[in-house]
Amino acid sequence: MPPLKTSHKSTCCYCGVGCGVVVSRGNNGELTVEGDKTHPSSKGMLCSKGMNLHYTVMDQSDRLLHPQMRLSRGAPMQEVSWDTALERVARVFQTFIRKYGPDSVAFYVSGQCLTEEYYLINKLIKGFIGTNNIDTNSRLCMSSAVVGYKMSLGEDCVPVCYDDIEAADTFLVTGANPAWCHPIIWRRVEAHKAANPGVKIICVDPRRTDTARSADLHLPLRPGTDIVLHHAVGRLLIENGHVDPSFIREHTDGFEAYRQKVMERSTEEAAAICGVELAALLQAAEWIGQARGFLSLWTMGLNQSVIGVDKNLSLINLHLITGQIGKPGSGPFSLTGQPNAMGGRETGGLASLLPGHREVSNAAHRQYMETFWNTPASIAPAPGLTATEMFAALAEDRLKAIWIINTNPMVSMPDMHAVEQAMTKARFVVVQDVSDRADTVRFADVVLPAAAWLEKEGTMTNAERRITHLPKVLDAPGNALPDAEIICRFAAKMGFENAFSYPHISAVYEEYVQCTAGTHIDVSGVSYSELDKQRSIQWPFPAGMKGEERSGTSRLFEDHLFYTKNQKAQLHAVADENASEPADADFPLVLTTGRIRDQWHTMTKTGRVARLNKHIPKPVLQINPQDARERGITDGRLVAVTGRRGQVTVHAQLTADVRPGLVFLPMHWGKMLESDALRTNNLTSSLVDPKSKEPDFKFTAVEVAVF
Ligand code: SF4
Repeated sequence: MPPLKTSHKSTCCYCGVGCGVVVSRGNNGELTVEGDKTHPSSKGMLCSKGMNLHYTVMDQSDRLLHPQMRLSRGAPMQEVSWDTALERVARVFQTFIRKYGPDSVAFYVSGQCLTEEYYLINKLIKGFIGTNNIDTNSRLCMSSAVVGYKMSLGEDCVPVCYDDIEAADTFLVTGANPAWCHPIIWRRVEAHKAANPGVKIICVDPRRTDTARSADLHLPLRPGTDIVLHHAVGRLLIENGHVDPSFIREHTDGFEAYRQKVMERSTEEAAAICGVELAALLQAAEWIGQARGFLSLWTMGLNQSVIGVDKNLSLINLHLITGQIGKPGSGPFSLTGQPNAMGGRETGGLASLLPGHREVSNAAHRQYMETFWNTPASIAPAPGLTATEMFAALAEDRLKAIWIINTNPMVSMPDMHAVEQAMTKARFVVVQDVSDRADTVRFADVVLPAAAWLEKEGTMTNAERRITHLPKVLDAPGNALPDAEIICRFAAKMGFENAFSYPHISAVYEEYVQCTAGTHIDVSGVSYSELDKQRSIQWPFPAGMKGEERSGTSRLFEDHLFYTKNQKAQLHAVADENASEPADADFPLVLTTGRIRDQWHTMTKTGRVARLNKHIPKPVLQINPQDARERGITDGRLVAVTGRRGQVTVHAQLTADVRPGLVFLPMHWGKMLESDALRTNNLTSSLVDPKSKEPDFKFTAVEVAVF
């Protein structure tokens, strides 16, 4: 590893909190990573994953170093040159496109990709190859929140900022465990509460997590009943006079239909359906109603659901009827999972989007980008395949080739055995990744070695719309290349060299920001130099907003003018029934899945750090002692968790932290690092929310028995 010239400021590459880091080499020559006190999102703090980042950089034992390919599935992989690998991929893609049309190929990418990489891939596939078949693993975590924001506020936008934490006096944390999964945000909440004991924290979660333990009130609701609970709170706010009539009248539509909907169930009935104490429900509504600053935080418990969009809408409704949005300490705040999920969507990184949050289905938007990119043909008007749809299409031979970049779907997708079959049937698979620990590499016809964090330059946007510049600090090992360079080299092999020739990665960013001008996410005033000067900038930041005095827009909708056509926010009277697969006599328990404190996604990085593996070294099934007793299961016993699609074999942990009827498994372990028996997604279903296409990871019917 070549020596560092100086210390460099960057951003942690794990979660959407986007903590600032300072990377330097100590006197002993070792790389060190510290929290950056000048970064406004994290103020010098790092969690256990961030504090151990240097181990994943220093240990390169798992790195993919050279392009490899094989001419048939049974044949061994051969190291080849970049030219040979990319010419093969271009030849195969061109053959399929000629024979079956552009929709026969697809890219599946990652919220780990930098904004510039996302932009280039979108430009290539939507503008030049001629298909909208690009989706991202953010589909698996944020797409329900995206649709919820669009339907209620008129735009995919987090309206709040982290500084709203210190201005809030009531927190509703629902379907999230930020104490483990967004630790630095949670530390700010805890510090605020410690300094202001009157601050109230309500946690809604079927599990008693560390977040629930530090809350003033925990509502351990029955899985799938979130909307019933939100509606009951809405009803109580209306009945107790805790709504804001003038805000509702002047700035929202749909209140009367909403009012009628929430009145359909009594609060007693709602409490019974949710399985929570009526007194706790009343208390939660009272605290929210009395709040001067009401902030709701949520993640996958709402999003990863077959009714995920409606769960989001029913929560956002609570902010709209109380007018708790667009003012300090108030608003709905979806906590982003991946570090650059938001940046990816800004550049059009979903199958339905174009850069600047434009839509492929909008003719004017398509025309704008066709002119901007000078495309050789029209952009396709129909949305492309979403993440789960891609694998179904591979299985049915509707999709012939898939190029997977920096994500490991062979661990993270639901209904894994079906996905495994799809990948086995796929005619052509390209995997572009950093690590050979990714299970997906085993399915590749061509493997492309990518540069890792610190080895490439670009930008990311964190969960509070804050853009940070990540400089290149190290050279990539072997022949690994930055993802942006791989895409540009491939584009040239496809005959699009002129449109993909950039003197420097900053030129890609300059091109991207230009096309956001005039949109709600206008970042036309942002540049690498402006980012380096200000450390980070929150969008929107249009050209002309430059200046030492401002670093973008911290809070949206302070004028209460929303991004809908009539500038009013829309209340939605959504149905409250869950549509997950039903539990029955054969599969009477509900499995929910999630993350543990010290691991990140499929463990290709964090699983290599001994310190992080100490926390929870192996997956265990959390089961309530009552359910365990009925099945003769004792603590530590090996059990088989069986569902309609597969089985997992793990040790049981008896704990009252999960409510009766519920079991919990972490989602991190895959087949390659362990075995098929530990892969949680053998069990999960392929059901998705019809509006967001986000999978139903949080509700799978299973049975558990002694193995
Ligand atoms: Fe990294 Fe997230 Fe931890 Fe911050 S909270 S150090 S971004 S993993």
